[in-house]
Amino acid sequence: MKFSDLKSLSDVMTALPDEKSAANLLFNEGLIKNNVNCSKCGNPMQLRSRANGYEWRCRSSKSKDCSSESIRHGSFFARTKLTLLQAIKVIVLWKQKNSAKQISKEVGISEQTVCDWRNFLREICTSIELSYGKLGGIDRTTGRVAKILVPLLQASVDKNSIVYSDERKSYSQLKHYFSEHCTVCHKIQFVNIVGSRRVCTNGVEAMGSRLKAPFKSGKGTRQTLLDSYISEFFVRENEKDDFFSKVLDEMKSKVI
Ligand SMILES: [Zn+2]
Repeated sequence: MKFSDLKSLSDVMTALPDEKSAANLLFNEGLIKNNVNCSKCGNPMQLRSRANGYEWRCRSSKSKDCSSESIRHGSFFARTKLTLLQAIKVIVLWKQKNSAKQISKEVGISEQTVCDWRNFLREICTSIELSYGKLGGIDRTTGRVAKILVPLLQASVDKNSIVYSDERKSYSQLKHYFSEHCTVCHKIQFVNIVGSRRVCTNGVEAMGSRLKAPFKSGKGTRQTLLDSYISEFFVRENEKDDFFSKVLDEMKSKVI
């Protein structure tokens, strides 16, 4: 069983009956460390089996430990007091777009803890988004851009992009900043056929609606978190079926 095969809470319950099985899954996937050296003497530590999981320990004699360490040490999971099994449940439920309230109820943890976890997971999405570089290039990019937004657009859209927009006057300068600027006049048509290109803004408008939907149905969000919400949305849209694997890979890259 791979982590990315866990599609629902019942998959998690079936595949991972206890904390040890959860730890084994994370070991196998490289999401927690497979070997740790003692911070005191530098020797390799041994894995000790406990009633509710595992821990690393370095023995200085038969009856005495030199040091011990949590198995989360150096991983994404070091940030939390949740059991590994609870953390896996939160990740799977978040992937399925459950609300904080639903996750809190299903996993039996406070909504505040769920909020912290969703913040951690959105930080992972932000890291993934940063790895993309600029938008556009070979893809078409479209948008409503007031003059004041040109620098913002330049910061995130590749200059070789072909930009699609409607015919608002303030967009007229975009051809100077990007490879090409194609327009559609909504007064007379929804789609402007230019050679082999279908110039329209339907795609970006639909995407805008999908982006705003969770904020409209919920209580909105704090301004400081808005960027990370957009990162999550953007990575989900971009990765589609690979979203979960991508998130897990990014978590793996955080193991130090
Ligand atoms: Zn030691």
